[in-house]
Amino acid sequence: MTLDENRPEIHKFDTLLVANRGEIACRVMRTARRMGLKTVAIYSDADASARHVREADEAVRLGPAAARESYLNIEAVIDAAKRTGTGAIHPGYGFLSENGGFVKALEQAGITFVGPPASAIAAMGDKSAAKARMANAGVPLVPGYHGDDQDDALLRAESDKIGYPVMLKASAGGGGKGMRVVESGEGFKAALDGCRRESKAAFGDDRMLIEKYLVQPRHVEVQVFCDRHGNGVYLFERDCSVQRRHQKVIEEAPAPGMTAELRSAMGDAAVRAAQEIGYVGAGTVEFLLDADGSFYFMEMNTRLQVEHPVTEMITGQDLVEWQLRVAMGEKLPCTQDELTITGHSFEARIYAEDPDQDFLPATGLLTRFALDLEGAGLSADQVRLDSGVESGDVVSMHYDPMLAKLIVHGADRDAALATLNRALAALDVQGVVTNRAFLQRLANHPGFKNVELDTRFIERNEAALFAPRSYSTEAYASAALIGLNQLAQECESDSPWDRHDGFRLNAPHTIRIALSDPGFSQGPAQASDNDEAVVIVEGKRESGESLWNLTIGDKTLTASLQPLTGDAVAVTLNGHRRRLQARRDGHIVVMAEPSGETRLFWRRIDAIDHGHHETESTLTAPMNGTVVALLVASGAAVEKGMPLMVMEAMKMEHTMTAPADGSVDAFHFQAGDTVSQGDVLLDFAPSE
Ligand code: ADP
Repeated sequence: MTLDENRPEIHKFDTLLVANRGEIACRVMRTARRMGLKTVAIYSDADASARHVREADEAVRLGPAAARESYLNIEAVIDAAKRTGTGAIHPGYGFLSENGGFVKALEQAGITFVGPPASAIAAMGDKSAAKARMANAGVPLVPGYHGDDQDDALLRAESDKIGYPVMLKASAGGGGKGMRVVESGEGFKAALDGCRRESKAAFGDDRMLIEKYLVQPRHVEVQVFCDRHGNGVYLFERDCSVQRRHQKVIEEAPAPGMTAELRSAMGDAAVRAAQEIGYVGAGTVEFLLDADGSFYFMEMNTRLQVEHPVTEMITGQDLVEWQLRVAMGEKLPCTQDELTITGHSFEARIYAEDPDQDFLPATGLLTRFALDLEGAGLSADQVRLDSGVESGDVVSMHYDPMLAKLIVHGADRDAALATLNRALAALDVQGVVTNRAFLQRLANHPGFKNVELDTRFIERNEAALFAPRSYSTEAYASAALIGLNQLAQECESDSPWDRHDGFRLNAPHTIRIALSDPGFSQGPAQASDNDEAVVIVEGKRESGESLWNLTIGDKTLTASLQPLTGDAVAVTLNGHRRRLQARRDGHIVVMAEPSGETRLFWRRIDAIDHGHHETESTLTAPMNGTVVALLVASGAAVEKGMPLMVMEAMKMEHTMTAPADGSVDAFHFQAGDTVSQGDVLLDFAPSE
């Protein structure tokens, strides 16, 4: 280690390049602009018109979409900095943020790295070496072994000494790879071999360390900050216990249940950890907090973290501004005594992914991404949306699927949690599946409210956190009405009376609607009878307001629906009025309220008495496509199963057949017309 690495030269800068994309790039540039700096973005071909590029003063293309050819290409990033006269680079998180080689390359190029010296990154890069240094600095470690001797028998003896369960971890590890829990001595050898193989493959290094496995720990991390003048402070802690596969989902600050003593003990240990390795800038020291109040060093993240906003919310400080000031050679803006905690904050990470399909990442056109604070009765000082996207953006498959972070603040934990639930419901996301409903179930979970937190919270509560197969009568009733209302609106905005579907808006009428969980393929073929609810709707429309009687099983409800502004509607069921955000996404009705989001597959099944079975209508378009041919004349009598109309979609033809004996009253489209999924193609009248 040379002195230069520890104390890089200070270069003044008035231009900042953000070597990242998405929400963090937007967030860093926001502060930089406020501080009067010129901002430079970099982008890959997939991001040519991304939000961070639109917001930057200047932007430079790096290369193709693949990260290693763009955001991870050190040479290209430095070249972009030179082309734009950039004095400093902020790495955000991920990509090059903890890459010592990048930091050294910037040093050589005379560009300031907004972050720690390369030597501090290296010191925390290897878990075993880091633990040895932390022990040196008097930072508590999980009982365990992190020595150089890797002899099988010795490792086994150390594990026996620690006591089972133990956790084997790759010294060179990260991202949850090369980690295994060993329950007993018998399983030790097999786990060791497996872990070594995994570690060798992932990191080219198979050294192992062993730790006591804590059964119900919380993940509590401390935000630290150091300047180049020897000052170090902690900005309190965050609880990030709610994780799925070691990935954080909802974070909060402060950690519930902290005492003043524990807070300062953890804070002091964290600052000692940072100073031991000559740290400069923003860093996070992660601890496991055991049920008995013992805490143990886990690792240090040598960068700004995704969840830093909750710390900003409770301290009133802008951590990016602190980073930039430290990088300019200034002293820390505050001393430890000047820092205080006000209220409570949560952050929920909004991902383009489907939690009910094993968190499969989702892509596509984000037709809408907006947060209607006013409509939800929330104010801007309670809610902050750090977003990398806007309505109309495309979510690609090339990068991390995190779209945005929703951050809230309240006077205390309960108030902040109530605000989080409101804000999640008010978020209007369309076009791409997100984890919003999952976040709502988490934030509404009684165990979460009661602070029953540990790193296995999601695992323990799986049944309650993933989509249920059936819903309340009220949910089915609301969904039935919302679907009908949309149909009525579409009808009115078109030429009203001649084109439609037997849903006579101004006459009493009976309609049957089947509702089911959208399930995996989002198609009716997947729904079995058990998963389906049938709502029989009878009603009429009077001067703008629709009044209905709904029958679901043996229950009958009187109902009305009133459109409010935007997507908001008020549904009144037996005199109980509820306000919710509602829309139709193809065949799916999506309803969001503070207690959660519900998605239901909606379709009309106008009943035809055919023996004792109800025959389903298949007369709506099953997908977007084109009408190829009408096969019978309007008014013609047909038999059940007779082909009526041919549609083409995705280069395949689909034939619509008669659902029963009867006649076609009217076709609503002609050959060559384009139809959308869910459009009613024809009116069908079954014979008596
Ligand atoms: P990585 O660097 O691969 O992310 P970490 O060492 O940070 O691995 O551990 C990741 C997660 O694994 C922690 O947040 C915690 O949930 C769990 N974990 C790690 N060590 C232990 C331990 N000794 N006992 C219990 N859980 C642990």
